[in-house]
Amino acid sequence: MTGEEIVTRYQTRSGIEVFKLPVWAFADHVTNCYLVLDDAVTLIDCSSAIGDANGSLERCFANARSEFGLTVDLKDVDRLIITHGHIDHFGGANHVLEQSGATIAIHELDVSTLQNFEERRVIAAKDLQVFLKRTGLSAERVASMLEMNRWSKGVFQSVKVDIVLREGPMADSPFTIHHAPGHCPGQVCLQLDDILFTADHVLDKITPHQSPEFISRNMGLGHYFDALKKIRVVEGVRLGLGGHLRDIPDVAKRIDETLAFHELRLEKTRAICQEPKTLAEISRALFGKRESYHVLLAILEAGAHVEYLYERGLLQVVNHEAIEDAVNPVLQYQVL
Ligand SMILES: [Zn+2]
Ligand SMILES: [Zn+2]
Repeated sequence: MTGEEIVTRYQTRSGIEVFKLPVWAFADHVTNCYLVLDDAVTLIDCSSAIGDANGSLERCFANARSEFGLTVDLKDVDRLIITHGHIDHFGGANHVLEQSGATIAIHELDVSTLQNFEERRVIAAKDLQVFLKRTGLSAERVASMLEMNRWSKGVFQSVKVDIVLREGPMADSPFTIHHAPGHCPGQVCLQLDDILFTADHVLDKITPHQSPEFISRNMGLGHYFDALKKIRVVEGVRLGLGGHLRDIPDVAKRIDETLAFHELRLEKTRAICQEPKTLAEISRALFGKRESYHVLLAILEAGAHVEYLYERGLLQVVNHEAIEDAVNPVLQYQVL
């Protein structure tokens, strides 16, 4: 299934045209890419390159031409802006650059993901291994998760980044960059007049996946909450356009809902930890029994909440005396 690939047109306050291209990324997962016709032809994100994702991107361009009379094609893209270093947003960059010769831009904290893809993949997997060994999952479970996590090996060929994004106005463009770390270190929201491209920072209906900062700096709930509060007060936003799912008519309201959702999950985590619990047990209590890749996602999400509480003195490691001489031991958490 490749989704419906129905393109939607928007116009910013000053008349810049924007087209939403809902591009298939993997099974049951569509990434919204955006074509922006300012002085240049800008493409925001390019989906995963997995399966038929590149074909889906091409069909979305074709649909924009037939539906709205556009004359631009993938080969006309001047600038590819990647909102953050997750494969469902940047994987298609090899194809886009090959077709168009576009320049490519990403936030400075995600530059290495594009430029040194294999190195970052291996190092992140090593940090993940250290984390997983502390959770209390069985050695077989840890090994199978690390094996599963290898799926992205060789999926992407590293590219040289032309434009490094930093907070503030983006040079030679109508965009303003708002750095919003948490879901990903280099996550940005892009403001264009009264439209805010929220990428995976704020989404309709779902809350973006969280991982502990233990695995990767500038991730974690503390950064995420700060960045939500920062984006909440960005002025002049009429409409939010997310990296997945539907438009966000009221970004501030959606941010309040997202914050409330995590507050509740933090409370649940504390309630679970009335007795000493390993992270594997906490994850199971929060999310129930999960299968395959979802076990990994659940334990990372649980890990982000436990880390947040632990860093603020609201949880304590209670088996510290028993594990003092152990190498990378299983930790047990309890409320104070
Ligand atoms: Zn993401
Ligand atoms: Zn995404």
